[in-house]
Amino acid sequence: MHDSAADTYRHRGQRRALVEELRRKGIHDERVLTAIGSVPRHLFFERAFESHAYQDKAFPIGEGQTISQPYTVAYQSQLLDVAPRQRVLEVGTGSGYQCAVLLELQATVFSIEYNAVLYERTRHRLAQLGFAGAQLFCGDGSVGLPEHAPFDRILVTAAAPTLPRPLLRQLSVGGRLVVPVGDEHVQRMVRVTRESAEGYAQEVFEEFRFVPLRGAAGWGE
Ligand code: SAM
Repeated sequence: MHDSAADTYRHRGQRRALVEELRRKGIHDERVLTAIGSVPRHLFFERAFESHAYQDKAFPIGEGQTISQPYTVAYQSQLLDVAPRQRVLEVGTGSGYQCAVLLELQATVFSIEYNAVLYERTRHRLAQLGFAGAQLFCGDGSVGLPEHAPFDRILVTAAAPTLPRPLLRQLSVGGRLVVPVGDEHVQRMVRVTRESAEGYAQEVFEEFRFVPLRGAAGWGE
């Protein structure tokens, strides 16, 4: 799928070690672990910072944004529980790494990024790496993508002040939204399942720390 020429034996070894670290930290979904083991995270970094790619840490990607910590990517992907061909909306494309993990999970991916510089950079990167299947958009993902709804899964990779209502409405019945909700310092991971046209069930999980979700159903401009 991706350009294996730039993915060396050493990188693959580092990825195997990262997968074992995530397993020790409680990630147990084998499909998610396999996807993390397959996507060359170092190719989502500037070359100079490549040595940080297989540490379980978030890292700056420019424009004041970050590539999420591998544990966070794995945790959100596990909660999302994506089956092949499901329609998944990711809000916050960022570096494109989570998007590549969703593609490895064989989802039909729609991903939207607010920041135009990151959107352009990541669009080129994903194409260059051969992760060509995702439909990428630039704009305010806090209001979703109504023209492409409904979605089986929606994943928000930035911190929302409250559950974004437009996203709830764009879930199919049986669909799931995974979103960190809280203030600017700390958020709890929330999973909402749309059980019927009007019925939603909510589960609350661990604490995380994300960059803010901008936009109309986020923290504003
Ligand atoms: N998923 C990303 C990855 O794998 O690199 C990490 C995302 S980073 C933690 C959060 C991203 O959400 C940033 O790139 C930020 O610009 C973006 N963002 C914030 N508010 C947004 C909004 N309303 N719509 C779309 N993207 C948004």
